[in-house]
Amino acid sequence: MLYVFDVDKTLAESDCMMTNEFADVFRKWSKDKKYFFCSGSDLTKMKQQIPADILQNATAIFPVMGGELWIDNELKYQRTFTPPEGFRQDIEKLFNESPYPERTGEHIQDRGSMWCISVVGKAANQQQRYAYTAYDDKVNERVTIVEKLAPKYPDILFTIGGQISIDVSTPGNDKGQVLAAFRKYISDEPVTFLGDRMTKGGNDYPLAEKLKQESNKNQVVPVTGPEDTMAKLIAMSDCC
Ligand SMILES: [Mg+2]
Repeated sequence: MLYVFDVDKTLAESDCMMTNEFADVFRKWSKDKKYFFCSGSDLTKMKQQIPADILQNATAIFPVMGGELWIDNELKYQRTFTPPEGFRQDIEKLFNESPYPERTGEHIQDRGSMWCISVVGKAANQQQRYAYTAYDDKVNERVTIVEKLAPKYPDILFTIGGQISIDVSTPGNDKGQVLAAFRKYISDEPVTFLGDRMTKGGNDYPLAEKLKQESNKNQVVPVTGPEDTMAKLIAMSDCC
């Protein structure tokens, strides 16, 4: 069995490291297991959420929705997002037109396989993020921006991500691509997947659906947060 874990809100709270308690449980549980991490974040951010030894002992790591695959510190593949001509200028124009008053920097973040774009900017601190989220909840600015860009760029996938940003990539660049990578680079063994956003619209949904379609030997385990994941790992074995 191959075990795949979402990271944010499954192993750790957003922007936080796994708790020491959970890390200890994970180390014991994982001794005789092949396990994997699949996150929407890049590898640098994943290292801030998963202790180094636990990350090192993973059979493989899938950052940026599976747009990258790392095995033994080696990058096996990386999808790239190549924006069409004029795309950056269109985004900048819409951002300049936004009545939202605050700009913090890093408005277009290139993550290789995707862009992460934000009116307030990815450099925003937690307080600035909350302020923008409150504004966006009121006026739905991110949805409006997507509605303006999407008709002009039908081959680009826009996803409202996190608190302040819009993820920009090509269709198929979701966690669902991890299953094909498993079969090509890892093995044909069944997969158990634990994640907190397994329902439609959630970023774990595409992989959950592909696993269900492939075989009933695969298991999809929804969790409500790190505490719940820890409880489920303990229940799954007599390790801890
Ligand atoms: Mg998550």
